[in-house]
Amino acid sequence: MSRTVSTTLGEGDRVALLVPGSLDYLDAVLGLLAAGVVPIPLDPRLTAYERERILTPLSPALVVTSAAELDRVRAAYPDTRGLPRARPVHCTSGTTGTPKGVWSGLLSAEDARALVAEERSLWSFVDTDVNLVLSPLHHSAPLRFAMGTALAGGRVVVPGPFDPALVTAAIEAERPTSMFCVPTHLQRLFAHWDEVGVPDLSSFRLVAHAGAPCPDAVKRRLVELFPAGSTWEFYGSTEGQFTACRSEEWLERPGTVGRARPGRTLSVDPDGTIWCTVPRFARFSYFGDPDKTAATWRGDAFTVGDLGRLDEDGYLHLDGRREDLVISGGVNVYPLEVEQVLQGHPGVDDVAVYGVPDEQWGQRVCAAYVGTASAAELDAFVRERLAPPKRPKTWHRLEELPRTLTGKVLRSDLPR
Ligand code: ATP
Repeated sequence: MSRTVSTTLGEGDRVALLVPGSLDYLDAVLGLLAAGVVPIPLDPRLTAYERERILTPLSPALVVTSAAELDRVRAAYPDTRGLPRARPVHCTSGTTGTPKGVWSGLLSAEDARALVAEERSLWSFVDTDVNLVLSPLHHSAPLRFAMGTALAGGRVVVPGPFDPALVTAAIEAERPTSMFCVPTHLQRLFAHWDEVGVPDLSSFRLVAHAGAPCPDAVKRRLVELFPAGSTWEFYGSTEGQFTACRSEEWLERPGTVGRARPGRTLSVDPDGTIWCTVPRFARFSYFGDPDKTAATWRGDAFTVGDLGRLDEDGYLHLDGRREDLVISGGVNVYPLEVEQVLQGHPGVDDVAVYGVPDEQWGQRVCAAYVGTASAAELDAFVRERLAPPKRPKTWHRLEELPRTLTGKVLRSDLPR
């Protein structure tokens, strides 16, 4: 990390962090927050073009980067100042486009403290906790877990970029009590443990996953391997965490992502759009994008564009993202439903279902998958289980699906 600071920072100034996640990184975030400076954690692998699109509206007073990247960053970011003073900005993953700066600009310092206190109490972080960090710390969920642990006086372990062998070694050496992961991490860890054996997992009291749908088989293995009561799923986004769900609840209602967290209420429009209300201290806007902010809020409820259903007991089931919905011949096809069916085929290891433009039908359903099954086998499999509009018309067998570091399939990179 470059330690040359060429400007004096004032309360409310923004500082962009373009450095690989490490303990230094966590120190920097906590130090900046303590000084009233707004950290903007960014993916260090962003291209110059992406950086410019993100940094221009955020106009940071300072960009912290590595010596190797300094010249490129200098060329890419405009040194402007003077935008309103505010609190932490987090950028979304950019799965559906350019990452959005999620800005808790409505907050007072008191609200910000309430938000941190709420986070700590939800997961009950204490000074004996040891948080093992698997995801890059510029994403909001792993950073919240690490900050929650650090602020409670616990220990944070950062083994480096995700590698199942390193994580396994860290589990054995550090006896972690918590970790946040995305389903892809679990899949890769389980595959590794099939080869080398399962490490002693008895130190864990909290293993939470979120960010992308978790295949049923992965979830069941998670519950089987980790201590009873330790495994959770939540549904949320950079904008906030909306639900929490113990795996025991999931086993009773497979597929659910749980009920609204305390202080939140969920509702679903007739078209499936999920809305969530949050306490005042957890409100947000999109930095520099009032139109997007206005479209996101309806009174005190907001939507991030996900679709789903609530059951009679208030448990939420996700149907995917509005952008991913495929409309074929006027029929709505939810890719997640088709993916869940295909995950049930023994010759499918990973799968993504998506729409491509089609002259006759508007959109046509396609599937890209990893595994040994042939297209003919899968075709026969879906014929027995899905109505005609939902059946993929084109099959692509791939070595690997393109995914973000947050475990989401990058649909724009799938074969057309
Ligand atoms: P962008 O908004 O820039 O495209 P992004 O939405 O991928 O980025 P994140 O905030 O990292 O950025 O992701 C949030 C999304 O992840 C949610 O809106 C939802 O679609 C998905 N998600 C989160 N938790 C779960 C879960 N438990 N199961 C399934 N999907 C989930």
